[in-house]
Amino acid sequence: MKTIAILGSTGSIGTQTLDVVRANGDIRVAALAAGRNVSLLEKQIREFRPELACVWEQQDAKDLQIKVADLPVKIVSGMEGLKEVAICEEAQILVSAIVGMIGIVPTIEAIRAGKDIALANKETLVTAGHLIMPLAKQQGVKILPVDSEHSAIFQCLNGERECGNAHGELFKILLTASGGPFRGKSRRELETVRPEDALRHPNWSMGRKITIDSATMVNKGLEVMEACWLFDVSPDQVQVVVQPQSIIHSMVQFADGAVLAQMGMPDMKLPIQYALYYPRRRYLAGERLDFARLGSITFENPDQETFLGLKYAYEAARRGGSMPTVLNAANERAVSLFLKGKISFTQIYDIIRYCMDHHSVIESPDIGQILVTEQAVYEMIEKICEGR
Ligand code: NDP
Repeated sequence: MKTIAILGSTGSIGTQTLDVVRANGDIRVAALAAGRNVSLLEKQIREFRPELACVWEQQDAKDLQIKVADLPVKIVSGMEGLKEVAICEEAQILVSAIVGMIGIVPTIEAIRAGKDIALANKETLVTAGHLIMPLAKQQGVKILPVDSEHSAIFQCLNGERECGNAHGELFKILLTASGGPFRGKSRRELETVRPEDALRHPNWSMGRKITIDSATMVNKGLEVMEACWLFDVSPDQVQVVVQPQSIIHSMVQFADGAVLAQMGMPDMKLPIQYALYYPRRRYLAGERLDFARLGSITFENPDQETFLGLKYAYEAARRGGSMPTVLNAANERAVSLFLKGKISFTQIYDIIRYCMDHHSVIESPDIGQILVTEQAVYEMIEKICEGR
């Protein structure tokens, strides 16, 4: 029996991971961590009976402890609590599905403790890929991608290189994108879109932050960087292809020109299950692809002049060092301001641009420097907002 721990169990990926666990019946859940959704976490504790659970706030932890006093579960809180969940002795796999840069430190702790990582939290690799990938190799730990595109690439490579391109056979990654809810809109039209418009993704149901990232195409940019670290390729070897039906989840092109694609219905449970049972495939209930009904699959180039998120992310990826952290932190804060109605959609791009332009790059930053850079970006944005 496999045993897992989950960071972000109350989120979109976390709850779908628990759906996979429920449907298979042979995975034990040893530890769960959530942010503020204490009532859902309590339900999860009652159903899955972990030995350890974490919530972010200390007061929430006290309340939860009282609610589950009838069960043998230890309740912890804060960053120390997240780390405890990440290294929980019983678990072999950590599902890293927390949103944002807060996932970096616990994920690193889990790798140090020898846990395989089912990785959804892309911010971890974007900002600290240069630390994570060598550490995982040194610890003999697998980084199993959960992001549908990266799982698709991993499946196309059939795990042969287990996330690496040791023989140089992988020529190019064709990273597919739906184009999001605003595909085809002009820059002027984007200026007036509201959070509720941006939260309406055409094909995927996801957490709020990643849904906005999909609309700005920052998400695709973060995925370009994630792909570079996972598969040991340069940004110029990752080409983004818009494929609005979200049927092809990504493709790889080999040195001889052959292209392999992974296709399927848009359902995150497939990559989650693949990561949990890798290298085995299991039955997964759900709709199957019907090519006759689908009729056609179409392709186009991304509009990087309107959706500047992708353009800026390529720039940050090529520059490297602490620049991806700046892009990521600026985006995290800007998305949160947009969702609160404090800035417009296109000001997300303006904030990212401003922060990237006002940063002196640190080459190969350590964890401390990454976190200091994150904080400096937040302070820079506060100053911009105060000055408006
Ligand atoms: P959600 O917003 O749905 O969920 C985020 C999870 O993180 C929740 O469980 C939330 O807890 C938890 N969380 C937030 N802050 C804290 C904190 N301070 N301490 C502990 N837990 C915290 O996000 P998604 O599931 O959509 O995304 C998670 C990650 O996976 C992101 O990095 C995203 O980019 C990536 N991803 C998501 C995909 C998707 O389909 N959703 C696809 C590919 C990648 P609570 O709700 O209790 O506050």
